[in-house]
Amino acid sequence: MKHILMIATGGTIASKETADGLTPQLTSEELLAEVPELEQLCRIDTVQLMNRDSTNINSRDWLQMAACVRGRYDAYDGFVLTHGTDTMEETAFFLNLTVKSDKPVVLVGAMRPSTAMSADGPLNLYNAVVTAAARESRGKGVVIAMNGLILGAHGAMKTNTVDVQTFQSPNSGALGYVLNGKV
Ligand code: GLU
Repeated sequence: MKHILMIATGGTIASKETADGLTPQLTSEELLAEVPELEQLCRIDTVQLMNRDSTNINSRDWLQMAACVRGRYDAYDGFVLTHGTDTMEETAFFLNLTVKSDKPVVLVGAMRPSTAMSADGPLNLYNAVVTAAARESRGKGVVIAMNGLILGAHGAMKTNTVDVQTFQSPNSGALGYVLNGKV
């Protein structure tokens, strides 16, 4: 079984609807607990690096994320970072430039909070781990896996503020997709 590290940073995927709006509050363990199917797929460890709305992610956070992957690089076959969608493309771009990795590094989030009907977080997380564990993902640089698509960090963009089909690579197209647990 592949050994994957999930690094949680916050975003809607970790958010609950509260009287004050959406706030990231699910822990990385709670995120994983939403997807028991992952146990059949690989061994996963998790780190709660931060729990922030990605609008507030700054360069210090980026350095922390890069250091987290680099510091544990030898121990894992792939890395999944859960992240808010608003600045996911910027974080992916930064990590693609700063984490030189043949191993998959996959960013994932959700457009609907964990408390929403048909929350997209659990399937997105499952697909991101599938992507991180897949042989096909090696040597592709940092990728974003959202709503079944796998997009290279160099060209991925959030194109819609509400739709679950929001990340696209208008210039280069998707690198791949995940369907029924396969890349
Ligand atoms: N602004 C929040 C964030 O980027 C919500 C957007 C999202 O995660 O979908 O973390």
